[in-house]
Amino acid sequence: MNIIIFGQPGIGKGSTSIRLSKKLNMPHIATGDILRDEAKKPNNKLKKFMDKGLLVPDNIVSETILKKITSKDCKKGFILDGFPRTPNQADLLEKNSVKFDAVINLEAPTEVIIERLSGRLICPKDNTIYHVTNIPPKKPGICDKCGSKLVKRKDDIPSVIKNRINVYIKDTKPILDFYGKKGIVKNIDGSKELEKVLDDILAVLK
Ligand code: AMP
Repeated sequence: MNIIIFGQPGIGKGSTSIRLSKKLNMPHIATGDILRDEAKKPNNKLKKFMDKGLLVPDNIVSETILKKITSKDCKKGFILDGFPRTPNQADLLEKNSVKFDAVINLEAPTEVIIERLSGRLICPKDNTIYHVTNIPPKKPGICDKCGSKLVKRKDDIPSVIKNRINVYIKDTKPILDFYGKKGIVKNIDGSKELEKVLDDILAVLK
C-alpha cells in the first residue's frame, strides 16, 4: 500500500505520518526532514528557499525522493509526506509508474493551523516534532529521545508561514484535483486529537 499524506503546512502531516508508519509498519518518507538535513551542510543552496517558505526547485527534490521510494525498503509500501507538492512532481510519479492507494487529505480551520505552527518545536538532531501543549516533551524544551535542546523551525514565524500557506494554495492544492479524479482522495478532519485522526485514517484505509 502506497499512501500520500497531504494537507497545508502545520496541519500535522509529519506527526501523523510518523505514528501511522509505526502502526502500519511502513517506511515514512519525510521530504521536509530530508531537505532540512541536507540544508544543514555548509553553504547549502537549499537553505535560502526553505528559510523563506519557498519550495526547493523540483529538479533537486524529485530525484532524491524518487530514489527513496523506488528503493528496496519501500517495495512493500510507503507513506509519503510532503511530496508531491507541485503538478510537475505528481507528473514525475506518474511517469515512473508510482501508484497510490490513498491520498489522505488532512483538513483543519486556519485558527487550528496557526495554533499548531506557533507552538511547534523540533529536535534539530533527530527531527522529532513536539508542540508546547499538544505533544509536550517530558522535560520542557528537551528532546525525549536524544536530550538535545528543542528549537523553533526557522520557517515557523508569521511572515514565512504566510508564504508557505500561499505556496500551498497556488502550487500544491491543485494536485488534489488530479488525485481526486482517480478516486483515491480521503478527506480527514485533522483538527481532532492526533490519536483520533489516526483512527479515522486507519478506518478509511480498511
Ligand atoms: P515541511 O517540513 O514538509 O513543512 O517542508 C519544509 C520545507 O521544505 C518547505 O517549505 C519547502 O521549502 C521544502 N520542501 C518540502 N517538501 C518539498 C517538495 N516536495 N518540493 C519542494 N520543496 C519542498
